[in-house]
Amino acid sequence: MIGICPKCGNYEWDKQISDNKKQIICPKCSHEWNFKAMPLFILTGSSGVGKTTTAQELMQRDKDFIVMDADFLYNIMPHETEEDYKNWVEQIMSLSKNIMQGGKPLLWTIAGALDKFENTYNRRFFTEIHYLALVCNPIVLEKRMREGRQITDVNWIKSSIDYNNWFMETGTLSNQKIDTYNISGKSVSEVADYVTYWVSLKSNPTR
Ligand SMILES: [Zn+2]
Repeated sequence: MIGICPKCGNYEWDKQISDNKKQIICPKCSHEWNFKAMPLFILTGSSGVGKTTTAQELMQRDKDFIVMDADFLYNIMPHETEEDYKNWVEQIMSLSKNIMQGGKPLLWTIAGALDKFENTYNRRFFTEIHYLALVCNPIVLEKRMREGRQITDVNWIKSSIDYNNWFMETGTLSNQKIDTYNISGKSVSEVADYVTYWVSLKSNPTR
């Protein structure tokens, strides 16, 4: 909705953004209108590492950002091809750009498709995208998957451990190392505290 021209009604995904990121510009009629550009926060990590548990804890707290789980869109959209994943991330960002007009940025929990965010049309409406991966000791992760979530599929467990190792050792996006936080031995409350701290740090980098 924020991306629809209020003057001529142009709803195409063709809008430009002013250099100061404070106005949206319609290329069809040159009308400009105000919007709030904010950062987007991505809480990621492999299956079983505790993204959802952390998000649930965060939802119980008063804070300066909105928490959303990308799975709800995943479940109602196709996810077979690269294009499907790109569309999924586009919808996450399109929804986010509208919700953040209420004055708070969003933090999404999402396991994959991380490489899609920077290359979307909707990227222009955000100042920065910040990624934080929850990681943990591989033995702890396997225990969490088997005992916490009753997962017995060895391939799923192995791929999750490999993904976790990737975040710990090399995980990069656009040549930048993804931030990580090791949850081994941490309580849910401590992890939620850290995520809140990380969001405030990234929101105010000079603090
Ligand atoms: Zn227009």
